[in-house]
Amino acid sequence: NRDISFIKEVDEKIHKSQDKLNAVVTFCNVDEQLKDYHVEDTALLKNVPVILKDNINTKGTRTTASSRILDNYVPVYDATIVKKLRDAGAVFMAKASMDELGMGGTNLNAYTGKVNNPWDLKRITGGSSGGSAALVAAGLAPLAIGTDTGDSVRKPAAYCGVIGLKPTYGRISRYGIIPYASSLDHVGLFTTNVEDAAIALEVLSGRDDHDMTSSNRPVENYKELLNSDLNGKTIGIIQNVQSAIQNEAITSSFDALVKKLEEKGAKVVSVEFDQDLMNTLLPTYYVISNAEATANHSNLDGIRFGMREEGDDLTSIMINSRTKGFSSEVRKRFVIGSYSLFVENQEKIFRKAQRVRRKIVEHLDEKLEQCDILLASAAGSIAPYPEDSFGDKLSATHLVAENHMLLGNFSGYPSITVPSDMVENMPIAVNLLGKAFDEVTVLSVAKAIE
Ligand code: GLN
Repeated sequence: NRDISFIKEVDEKIHKSQDKLNAVVTFCNVDEQLKDYHVEDTALLKNVPVILKDNINTKGTRTTASSRILDNYVPVYDATIVKKLRDAGAVFMAKASMDELGMGGTNLNAYTGKVNNPWDLKRITGGSSGGSAALVAAGLAPLAIGTDTGDSVRKPAAYCGVIGLKPTYGRISRYGIIPYASSLDHVGLFTTNVEDAAIALEVLSGRDDHDMTSSNRPVENYKELLNSDLNGKTIGIIQNVQSAIQNEAITSSFDALVKKLEEKGAKVVSVEFDQDLMNTLLPTYYVISNAEATANHSNLDGIRFGMREEGDDLTSIMINSRTKGFSSEVRKRFVIGSYSLFVENQEKIFRKAQRVRRKIVEHLDEKLEQCDILLASAAGSIAPYPEDSFGDKLSATHLVAENHMLLGNFSGYPSITVPSDMVENMPIAVNLLGKAFDEVTVLSVAKAIE
């Protein structure tokens, strides 16, 4: 029984939260949207306030991808998902902060600064969809849209204690979304419960002729098909991840959860991935994602979009705009990406990474023959403080615990993060990875866990 006055209240609350959370880049014009708001009572998102990550193009509303270079970019068209959400009744409240262009796992790389975790403002939210996660976690919106190239929906969901769903590659159109790495990019979503995730997935999914990677498969009625019955389901535990986690509170909570799932009727099996292959997850990801990002962002040149720096000629305008427009993290990734795409390096770096990716997915397919779904802790720690959050401090085995959700991007298979417990007054979570287009099993097992 939400109505328009509810939306206005939420709008006020989100504005007020900004000092505390710093989760918003741009507030949407809510009054304008409500002016002639006529939505059928049966519409799935009638009067639902929705948050969009700031890499989703909104016609007439600034869209920066949290990058200085796009500071003044106002799209002239809507992303397909924006239309779908609006048709379903959604009211857009804000464009949420993110790691610049999706590059990061902390939300410390947004040019508007750190986003604060609502559970403990000093801690990070994780990223790159940190603003979206924070606003749902703070109870300010029931639905936020994010994108997930490496784990950017599922990791912040874990750190903020909310549901984070990344469906199968091709399930949701990406038309109108500022890309990061096209072979890995997915649209995902945050909610506070599995049922809402099922409803939102139905709204967002479906073939889009503007996105040739979108699937023709019919969209299912996910909410109707949801069931938390675990009888007859086999859940595979990724041992490599669990044995790499050093936080005992997290591993013992995980073990207790597994027992509970067995009691509810699930058959639990232990799954061991090839450790050498698991160790290649992160380097393989960096080569592929940086190479694709370098190609995708060659149009951010200070000429066509966004901010422009002065220069004597076209080349110096581009160099100055890109130097000032991007943070050092993004520039670093472009250097790595360009290097691996040099003609003389392409075969031994970029193509090699693509072959390793294929091997990893084939290995994953073998493991998924033994079970319906894979389960592991979503992260090896609670949301860290900024100073503890840099990946290069982590050991190689620990890296596996922190990066296994890349399996979902390499394969494109559906994956969800579900809050499972509290440790030191902070949420912890588990992650599920299912088979291609088997969103129903992924959501249903998640329902049994929540
Ligand atoms: N943390 C990963 C990165 O830094 C993943 C980001 C993402 O999924 N967008 O690239």
